Amino acid sequence: MADYDFDVIVIGAGPGGYVAAIRAAQLGLKVACVESRATLGGTCLNVGCIPSKALLHASEYFDAAANGTMAKMGVEVTPKLNLDSMHGQRRDAVKQLTGGIEMLFKKNKVTWLNGHAKFTDEHTVEVDGESHSAKDIVIATGSSVTPLPGVEIDNDKGVVVDSTGALDLPAVPKKMVVIGGGVIGLELGSVWRRLGAEVTVVEFLDQLLPGMDGDVRKEAAKIFKKQGMTLKLSTKVTGVEVKGKNAKVSVEPAAGGEAEVIEADCVLVSIGRRPNTEGLNLEAIGLETNERGQIEVDGQFRTKVKGVRAIGDVVPGPMLAHKAEDEGIAVAEWIAGQIGIVNHDLIPGVVYTMPEFAGVGLTEEAAKERGAIKVGKFPMLGNSRAKTNHEPDGFVKVIADAETDEVLGVWCIASVAGTMISQATQAMEFGALSEDIAYTCHAHPTHSEAIKEAAMAVRGKPIHM
Ligand code: FAD
Ligand code: NAD
Repeated sequence: MADYDFDVIVIGAGPGGYVAAIRAAQLGLKVACVESRATLGGTCLNVGCIPSKALLHASEYFDAAANGTMAKMGVEVTPKLNLDSMHGQRRDAVKQLTGGIEMLFKKNKVTWLNGHAKFTDEHTVEVDGESHSAKDIVIATGSSVTPLPGVEIDNDKGVVVDSTGALDLPAVPKKMVVIGGGVIGLELGSVWRRLGAEVTVVEFLDQLLPGMDGDVRKEAAKIFKKQGMTLKLSTKVTGVEVKGKNAKVSVEPAAGGEAEVIEADCVLVSIGRRPNTEGLNLEAIGLETNERGQIEVDGQFRTKVKGVRAIGDVVPGPMLAHKAEDEGIAVAEWIAGQIGIVNHDLIPGVVYTMPEFAGVGLTEEAAKERGAIKVGKFPMLGNSRAKTNHEPDGFVKVIADAETDEVLGVWCIASVAGTMISQATQAMEFGALSEDIAYTCHAHPTHSEAIKEAAMAVRGKPIHM
């Protein structure tokens, strides 16, 4: 057998790559992970999941104080924003967590090659001029912001920004236009709205949050409007003109019609992300990407080039950290000669606003296309804990096969929907019927009881409604 420097080289140290590297090392393989950033953890830890949640959490406290929620509970305070401290605690969370991955690498004897990797052949990558070879190479290079043609992003100037810029604004914008009513637009739009910005979301489609259940999307529009966001659905941006610290955003109906100009001092471009393959020199190994720029893989994450596998945002599927992590574990297990399983039908999705929006499995629309279904829905207003906590918005919806009662999808809008959805995912992973959930004892008083009640509603028999 050929002599390689490593058993496995992983390119990219995001949640896909760092997890793959650690798992492969745990399985006794000699592993290197190439990462060009100065810190490990990828998009997720550096400029994605973690810093956005740090700002969402902090701004939620500010909002609760400012919008009267705390006063309702007898805590009367007038909040004063210290944005530098808020950013400081965000940077601190990122520093601690990225440093934690570095420690895990040391503990598991994963070699970090700090630099940019490009292929020279299917077993060799060059990292800043030095060659490193491995029997198996895993591409986990993640994704970057999709640009909007004709709109130039300048995060340093802070007027037209992407998600990375929107995490680090030095002051609260007066008027913010968010282009794209998806996950990033709503999460980061919520942060700045809570801190005082007037936020207008311009979304090309007729509803927010593409991919989520239709009822959830409609309810999202109602909730974000109630919170004070202006929503311009079925609307497209035709240009952004920047003069000094101000931007003029030209919009018009998606189907064509009269144009309008919205003035703003901050414009967030959040229209999706695209896979990172540029600069990898995939030509050297004869690997092509699909029409969406993704690397196609089989069930064992093998590309069409022997010895080269790929995981995470760079391959098809939802661009989510937990999906990348699970693929990281599975790919390492396949490389080590084990069986690595990821159930791609049950990847939960969560939007971490207040309330949170979460779902797993099929939407009602997709389930109906598959056959006859029964749907049970329960409002959070009927849940004692949500009501007591002054969290009236939202519902849980359980979708089951009409004949077999197997749960096909669960959707939650609740303050802790992201936590609640794990129970539904686990039940579905075990092939649960709605009856199984309905007859499982749930602790009282918890938001999760709404899942039990929605499951009971599948048979038309919830108690608290
Ligand atoms: P990445 O995390 O993108 O990591 C890839 C790494 O590879 C990067 O660090 C990059 O520098 C490195 N790299 C690329 N090319 C090379 C090369 N040639 N050589 C060396 N290194 C290279 N997902 C969630 O599940 N929950 C959330 O709450 C959430 N919030 C998000 C918030 C924001 C603002 C953003 C932008 C994303 C968020 N995501 C969230 C998505 C999540 O961050 C991604 O799905 C996840 O990071 C993908 O992991 P990955 O390992 O595939 O790639
Ligand atoms: P997205 O795909 O969630 O939303 C983009 C939105 O922009 C869509 O609604 C789309 O219709 C709209 N759009 C596209 N072009 C447009 C245009 N020209 N004008 C107006 N609207 C337009 O993408 P995102 O919000 O940028 O997020 C990128 C990825 O990051 C997502 O795949 C998401 O999974 C991931 N992410 C996840 C989380 C989370 O899990 N909580 C948080 C942030 C990001």
